[in-house]
Amino acid sequence: MNAARLAVRPGFVARATQLVQGAPDRRPSIIPSPSQNTSAVPFTHRLSPFSTSASLSCANHKNPGSSASATSQTDSDDSSTDKFTIGLRKNQEWAAQTAREHPDLFPTLATGQQPQILWLGCSDSRCPETSMLGLQPGDVFVHRNIANILHPGDLSSGAVIEYAVQHLRVKHVVVCGHTSCGGVAAAMGNKQLGILDPWLLPLRQVRERNLALLQSLPADEAALKLVELNVREGLNVVTQKSVVLNAIQERGLKVHGVIYDVGSGVLRELDTQDSQDAIRARLVAFKTDA
Ligand SMILES: [Zn+2]
Repeated sequence: MNAARLAVRPGFVARATQLVQGAPDRRPSIIPSPSQNTSAVPFTHRLSPFSTSASLSCANHKNPGSSASATSQTDSDDSSTDKFTIGLRKNQEWAAQTAREHPDLFPTLATGQQPQILWLGCSDSRCPETSMLGLQPGDVFVHRNIANILHPGDLSSGAVIEYAVQHLRVKHVVVCGHTSCGGVAAAMGNKQLGILDPWLLPLRQVRERNLALLQSLPADEAALKLVELNVREGLNVVTQKSVVLNAIQERGLKVHGVIYDVGSGVLRELDTQDSQDAIRARLVAFKTDA
């Protein structure tokens, strides 16, 4: 059973932390915030999250005939401030600089990929996995979605996990949550969010199972605790997949849970080591063979 330990590798995040170059960001989260009168008001409210109505009144949705629309449209087309225009130009600079500094990188990547890390994280723009790890293209295979939720039957994340583990043979699977997560804030509230409601259901289930604990904490600590619990739930889903259990046993695949602090750029690794009894039960219940 020794090969089935779901142990962490402490040096992994330590190395990543040394390479972190992130900076605090005050942009609002992508999820509308829950109402203020909920039992636990997440601290993301202090980061000026926008409302659903605000998001629907952005420049591209305004009446084309309005002066406000004309002004906003002009602003969005200003090549000196438009991020897509800037990004296209910077891509040329980045590609040239990277080719100079790492002349073998792009020719090698053109022949295939051998990433060591599978990253399962949130879609949040403040959580760019390759940048925060200080790594390069080709190093990290990625699946990101709102609030890094891993639905057991989700075809998208399931296909990514199976391909990464079975075919790319990654050495590490990382589930990453983050501070100020809008999805977590939404699940801590009770506002109807349309299509996001079924998506966030696993988060609400975690909230339900840990309600007493979460209600005993100040709002900001409760939100952070739900981030952590969501990561642990994601790890449960990952390690209930037979392809993952097989890779752990046969070639020492490591599974990690981390939390990214968007206010400092620093990753923190969670202690995710299971007991031998828990590992034994998981193998009995979930491991299958061809
Ligand atoms: Zn998030």
